[in-house]
Amino acid sequence: MKYYSTNKQAQEATLQEAVVKGLASDKGLFMPEKIKQLPESFFDKIDTLGFQEIAYAVADAFFGDDIEADTLKQIVYDTLNFDTPLVHVNDNIYSLELYHGPTLAFKDVGARFMARLLAYFIKKQGQSDVKVLVATSGDTGSAVANGFLGVDGIHVYVLYPKGKVSNIQECQFTTLGQNITALEIDGTFDDCQALVKTAFMDDDLNKKLNLTSANSINVARFLPQAFYYFHAYAQLKKINKADNVVVSVPSGNFGNLTAGLIAKRMGLPVKRFIAANNSNDIFYEYLQTGKYNPRPSVQTIANAMDVGDPSNFARILDLYNHSLSEIKKDISGEWYDDNTIKDVVKETYQKTGYLLDPHGACAYQALADYLEKDEVGVFLETAHPAKFLETVESILDKKIEVPSALQAFMKGEKKSIQLQNDYNDFKYTMLQ
Ligand SMILES: *Cc1c(COP(=O)(O)O)cnc(C)c1O
Repeated sequence: MKYYSTNKQAQEATLQEAVVKGLASDKGLFMPEKIKQLPESFFDKIDTLGFQEIAYAVADAFFGDDIEADTLKQIVYDTLNFDTPLVHVNDNIYSLELYHGPTLAFKDVGARFMARLLAYFIKKQGQSDVKVLVATSGDTGSAVANGFLGVDGIHVYVLYPKGKVSNIQECQFTTLGQNITALEIDGTFDDCQALVKTAFMDDDLNKKLNLTSANSINVARFLPQAFYYFHAYAQLKKINKADNVVVSVPSGNFGNLTAGLIAKRMGLPVKRFIAANNSNDIFYEYLQTGKYNPRPSVQTIANAMDVGDPSNFARILDLYNHSLSEIKKDISGEWYDDNTIKDVVKETYQKTGYLLDPHGACAYQALADYLEKDEVGVFLETAHPAKFLETVESILDKKIEVPSALQAFMKGEKKSIQLQNDYNDFKYTMLQ
């Protein structure tokens, strides 16, 4: 299968090129040239299949032309070795818990898949020393670092802003050792991202090192996120709730939601989607006015969604041929400020006993506000509430349980290389 750029100025790429490069040469995002429909027979029996089997069928539609069946199956099965249960919250609303992977956030799915696919292609190209750069404001760094941990031939450098990520998040990428190096930058997240961008444009550095990036624009991180939409549907079908399904997605860069839109194109019977945002309401505004007005992000308690210029917006436009009216047929939007998010977490816990994290809370509330009587709602619970410990405990005014997997990270020894926000220092460190 070929991949084209959303900017349409670059040559089409193979899967291998798209995964190794990340971004197209015209700075567009790669899109699969065809989105294959899955047969009716698959949907008829989907409720009898396990998550790994479902995911392999979806992965085969994307990647089956480019990777041998055995290898692809192994990659899918290794990636998804954890649960993604569908949990009833109240009325016709269900939570798809995507946070039972190693770093307790949904990004584990894409990061683990990408690590294995990249390792496969690097081996095929005969390379043995590839360096992955990733700038993080918290969650991406932990998912990527843990996804690539112990993968042969790849060394990961996580750049993060000193003092600006939560204690738990920092532990998740500074305590791993092995092929993971944490670079603690005396600056902001934007500074970290700028260092990474400068590195990719530095011809001298790229002659000396094989560099690649692992952010969510990479198709190997983005497409596997379609897997669990099918799994959610399968679990609803099992309980006879699969008619008029509405999926609500807590959104920042919109990779997660876009993967759901692709699942729908493959034939998944989802009636419509809701894009739930925090105060960064750029997409909501676009749906209302037709104007896309990117701006600097504002800080919220759902910080993984603090995005002012969502990178996958280009993919949504491309999928719908830039037609606002077509986009609005499939997606509606809503946004919630911090005070509302706090109320939702607290009231939902009091009324139902279900503990939401601040991101999932936005998606839950959008269903509570807009689900019609004959519809069934699923929201994606993208992170374990204990990842936002101080926030959630102060909202509930009580201690919550921290899963043992998180506690284990917090016991590890923190190791990082401290750097000024200076490109030459950074480059020198990379070349050591
Ligand atoms: C990354 C993230 C999101 C946003 O996902 P996008 O694909 O960027 O829209 C939502 N919730 C959590 C917990 C995240 O880490």
